[in-house]
Amino acid sequence: MKISVIGAGQVGAMTAQRILEKNLGDVILLDVEEGIACGKSLDMMQSASLEGFTAKITGTGDFKKITGSHIVVVTAGFARKPGMSRTDLLFKNADVIKMVSKKIREYAPNAFLLMVTNPLDIMSYIAMNITGFNPAKVIGMAGILDSARFRAFLAQELDVAMQDIQTIVLGGHADSMVPLIEYTTVCGIPVTQFLSLTALEKIVEKTRKGGEEIVSLLKTGSAYYAPSSSVVDMVSAIISNSRRVITASVYLKGEYGYNDIYLGVPIIIGKNGVEKILEISLTQKDRLALDKSAKIVKDVIEEVKEKI
Ligand code: NAD
Repeated sequence: MKISVIGAGQVGAMTAQRILEKNLGDVILLDVEEGIACGKSLDMMQSASLEGFTAKITGTGDFKKITGSHIVVVTAGFARKPGMSRTDLLFKNADVIKMVSKKIREYAPNAFLLMVTNPLDIMSYIAMNITGFNPAKVIGMAGILDSARFRAFLAQELDVAMQDIQTIVLGGHADSMVPLIEYTTVCGIPVTQFLSLTALEKIVEKTRKGGEEIVSLLKTGSAYYAPSSSVVDMVSAIISNSRRVITASVYLKGEYGYNDIYLGVPIIIGKNGVEKILEISLTQKDRLALDKSAKIVKDVIEEVKEKI
């Protein structure tokens, strides 16, 4: 497997390291700041004998090196600073994604594209349009991370193992995301048997602000440990054809009643990328929240569409 990671910043470098340590494939780490990509790659390569991985890593600033990649993870762009919303990043990162997508189309036309750059749903939409790739192969990483955060907060509150919490977070990767309480269980037991709706709403709100809380503590960047774990889980699911059920931002053509939009919904992920979009029933409250979230994403897509 050849896996290229575009952007050697916090998320990109950590993603590369996790791919190597799991021996998922050889990595090309690319950044416009070539020295950063090369320096971090050398550093990671020198940990191979200690960590026990045999996968290779190459740092570069040259897109030709991504030729033949099976998977390209896109983390290039700018991260949020305190007080900045994901949407503030829109136009800065749209230009980066346009440029990167053209290069991917040229050098890695058969790759799966895993998008990370924010605002996630919009950047995934731009990447799919510019590359012209099959939408099943262009997937945005969001719901898997938002669900992991929701699971972590619930597990802390209940003092149980995080693995035993199952949940789904739908919608745009923003404050409008929709964590679904009715599909949240502790080893199959509805979470409402353990916590009141008021307590659950507090945790839902904490999940919505999960990324922002980290941005305001770090001051100079955004989260990267859990985001890189999330994207590597997706890389692994494609490589191993595990057919895991996760939430991801994918292209909708009528599913859930939405058209021509990237939005977070449950999918089966496997060797073809999006194997299936799962349409689940929603309570009226969640349906309204999802509609609201979809409208926010759609309005931004309409704003950037003519500039693509
Ligand atoms: P960072 O600033 O640490 O790294 C970004 C890197 O991209 C920099 O090294 C920069 O030089 C590089 N870059 C910029 N333009 C480029 C180009 N045209 N080609 C190649 N490289 C280029 O940022 P980060 O913390 O790694 O975050 C990266 C992105 O991921 C941000 O947009 C952030 O908001 C987003 N993010 C998304 C999620 C999610 O859940 N989807 C989670 C965390 C971060």
